[in-house]
Amino acid sequence: GAEAILRRQAQRESSARTYARSLPVVPVRARGMTVEGADGRRYLDCLSGAGTLALGHNHPVVLEAIRRVLDSGAPLHVLDLATPVKDDFTTALFETLPAPLAEHGRVQFCGPAGTDAVEAAIKLTRTATGRAGLLAFSGAYHGMTSAALAATGDTDARAAMAADTRVTRLPFPYDYRCPFGTGGDRGAELSARLTANLLDDPKGGVQRPAAMLLEPVQGEGGVIPAPDEWLRRMREITRARGIPLIADEVQTGVGRTGTFWAVERSGVVPDVMVLSKAVGGSLPLAVIVYREELDTWHPGAHAGTFRGNQLAMAAGAATIRFVRQNALHERAEAVGAHMLSRLRGLAAHHACIGDVRGRGLMIGVELVDTAAQPDDYGALPAASALAARVQQEALRRGLIVELGGRHSAVIRLLPPLTITDEQAEAVLDRLADALQAAQG
Ligand code: PMP
Repeated sequence: GAEAILRRQAQRESSARTYARSLPVVPVRARGMTVEGADGRRYLDCLSGAGTLALGHNHPVVLEAIRRVLDSGAPLHVLDLATPVKDDFTTALFETLPAPLAEHGRVQFCGPAGTDAVEAAIKLTRTATGRAGLLAFSGAYHGMTSAALAATGDTDARAAMAADTRVTRLPFPYDYRCPFGTGGDRGAELSARLTANLLDDPKGGVQRPAAMLLEPVQGEGGVIPAPDEWLRRMREITRARGIPLIADEVQTGVGRTGTFWAVERSGVVPDVMVLSKAVGGSLPLAVIVYREELDTWHPGAHAGTFRGNQLAMAAGAATIRFVRQNALHERAEAVGAHMLSRLRGLAAHHACIGDVRGRGLMIGVELVDTAAQPDDYGALPAASALAARVQQEALRRGLIVELGGRHSAVIRLLPPLTITDEQAEAVLDRLADALQAAQG
């Protein structure tokens, strides 16, 4: 039974387990947004494999694409050889890319995970520029391997492994807690000027880095969308100084934020895009796509045994096409806007909701401690314990949500883009009940 499985997991698996602690569910069946546990309980899943499941669990078009490969007798393991499956995936992927990348971009298949692709992007720009440093942002999450970890904001996570990547960290525009780069165009302008000054200061400035790495919407950092104008200014600054701009779209990609790629909203075209999660249609796949001028690698400069996951490529191609054909990014925008508006209504009745924000179906609700004193910017301290209680109360009501942000006080909603109107209402009803109960 479920209890025995959970007990054995606690005995055998590493103490680094995360979701398994806060979400003691033993999933045995799943379809769309619904997950069924071994105990027969059903849950609405707003975690979606940490934002991976654009079409929810076991979508028929994904299953069919996987079955087609299995039934065809095609090899499942091919290293980086050319195959019809890979050819089809790259065709589907390139059709989605912003113009210069779609026509002249290159793709590098990386290891299975998002962190592998981040690692590759940093390495590529180091090779192409001959420079070593990296600009990254406060609150960033890029993964758990060496260079990706160095670029990640969380100092506790970084402490365990000293990476040799020299990172200069700039403040990300986190409007609610640190009004930097926000307040509209003027904020973006100020933030841009500060960054430019840092880069251009001949004494005590930052050595010209190999790249700037950013998330168009920070996910793990607490669902913080970067303002469009700020992104445009970062693009101008990096372009003017010959610094490649890397957009980490691991979590934001494939329609989640209301456009197929999150950078599209601002019109910014990065030099490198890092893609994983939904791009593999629920199976492990990670790639970088980049401008051909950066393609300075010699043959074999970036290798990896598992760059040829045929099932993931088939699942990914099917997902990409289904999202585009059904304009699910537009649906994400519409349902997301409705959910944001209902959550803002909820915030009017719960002082503990400090901020509600998001783009499309990447939504965050930041909980705050109403008994404490506001900081210099008027924000109250994060309410981590309350957020943990809300997560547990939600689970009791059949709703799976994840926490994020610097203090794990942001409730994150990442439902599949296929969420129905009824499911969206049910999510909000259950969350409202959970909030009530957690404060009771
Ligand atoms: N970049 C971003 C923006 C992410 O959200 C994540 C994972 N949450 C990663 C990189 C790392 O991906 P993975 O966990 O597959 O290594």
